[in-house]
Amino acid sequence: MSYRQARYDEPLIFELLGGNDFCPVCDDKVRIPEEMVRQDLCLPDIPEREVVRHYINLSQMNFGVDNGMYPLGSCTMKYNPKYADLLSSLSTVTSVHPYQDEESVQGALQLMRDLEKALCIISGMDAVTLQPAAGAHGEFTGMLIAKAYHAANNQQRDEVIVPDSAHGTNPASAAMAGFTVIEVPSGPDGCIDLEAVKAALSERTAAVMVTNPNTLGLFEKDIADLARLVHSYGALLYYDGANLNAIMGITTPGAMHFDIVHFNLHKTFATPHGGGGPGAGPVGVRMYLEPYLPVPRIISEDGKYRFDYDRKESIGKVRSLYGNFGVLVRAYAYILEQGGDGLKDVSQRAVLNSNYLKSRVVPTYEMPFAQLRKHEFVISAKKLAKEKGVHATDIAKGLLDKGFMTPTIYFPSLVEEALMIEPTETESKETLDRYAQALIDIASADPEQLRTAPHNTAISRVDEVYAAKELILSWRIYQRKKGPGSP
Ligand SMILES: *Cc1c(COP(=O)(O)O)cnc(C)c1O
Repeated sequence: MSYRQARYDEPLIFELLGGNDFCPVCDDKVRIPEEMVRQDLCLPDIPEREVVRHYINLSQMNFGVDNGMYPLGSCTMKYNPKYADLLSSLSTVTSVHPYQDEESVQGALQLMRDLEKALCIISGMDAVTLQPAAGAHGEFTGMLIAKAYHAANNQQRDEVIVPDSAHGTNPASAAMAGFTVIEVPSGPDGCIDLEAVKAALSERTAAVMVTNPNTLGLFEKDIADLARLVHSYGALLYYDGANLNAIMGITTPGAMHFDIVHFNLHKTFATPHGGGGPGAGPVGVRMYLEPYLPVPRIISEDGKYRFDYDRKESIGKVRSLYGNFGVLVRAYAYILEQGGDGLKDVSQRAVLNSNYLKSRVVPTYEMPFAQLRKHEFVISAKKLAKEKGVHATDIAKGLLDKGFMTPTIYFPSLVEEALMIEPTETESKETLDRYAQALIDIASADPEQLRTAPHNTAISRVDEVYAAKELILSWRIYQRKKGPGSP
């Protein structure tokens, strides 16, 4: 099947219709201090019809879960059901004001409290905060909790241990919370090396951060021993729950003796993501860490829900207000719709899809470490690179030419020429077969074609190094970089 992406000469929205600026007229009745009134918002004045066409055209020059499989490893880019979108956009959800009196938002508070309870069951934790806005933010919150816990116990602990297979946000979050990060190498089987962790552990260790299944898609077989080891040093065990999609209803971080967990509601629980948010990264903890959770906590008294700010040991607030409510509503709807059995089924199918796709593309591609994987697997293009000079990035571009979103590439770094594939449970066998065939065909395709791919997309090969170094992410930055005299 040949593929050709839409390609429009779509101007910037500022260039549409001659770029008439939209200047808001201030209503005299609203008293805004003079110095705060902007004379010029610099927004283009364009009819709704043109705005809709502009953005629909742009969306057609892009890939998304709504137009095809998107197996970006670690990111859990599953299809997000539209009922969750619908429910979260009901006016009863969108018109709730965060400063409304508690009496008048009992339903919203109950939804959040019930979601906390559901996440407790899914994770095996005792208490959950919904406040953090993303996975990395949840990690940061978790690290602050670990810090507060050790400080309360008069312990000087300033180090956090992270395996080399960890997502980059783990060491970043620990460092942001003021810890020194100690990276430990994985063992020859791709799993945590207990001896390496033991060598790094000391009375200075505050926490060990672990992803399980890890980013290779391998279940950490020594997790029980690791937990015992970490706890014997008085340190806490932190679970990066971005990969919860693999284990729901089968096991829990609680059963694995973790102390702190973060969830990525925008990965596993029905919120579209990839465009920078909004997301939600709730954090779950054991009972002995509950006093440190951010304020406010939602409590119920005499049949009424209310916010409790009176918590002396709390780490305080980690963001404004109470969390990204729309995302919480989507997760709540998704969890209720699936039910316990449904969530278990989600994880079982995610693992089945991953192993099925893996069995189709190996041995065309090599796969280091054990063959049986969980929700994702990592193959290597090392052989192709050596024999034909075709690298993981060329394979990824070749997939775009066939109408498929690429896997995650060059991560985790312990696999050379890595392609990290997470098909998720929402793809059919037919789609998995087509993806496998695309990967197999690419392995024998003309190397020169691949090195200059993609050819069938709206934008051909971009200079990724330049894009990463010259961050031009908005019209305002673009104008600033263009220098004075620009419109
Ligand atoms: C996505 C991801 C994170 C970070 O989540 P964000 O919401 O993007 O901040 C952390 N760990 C793992 C394993 C992930 O896949």
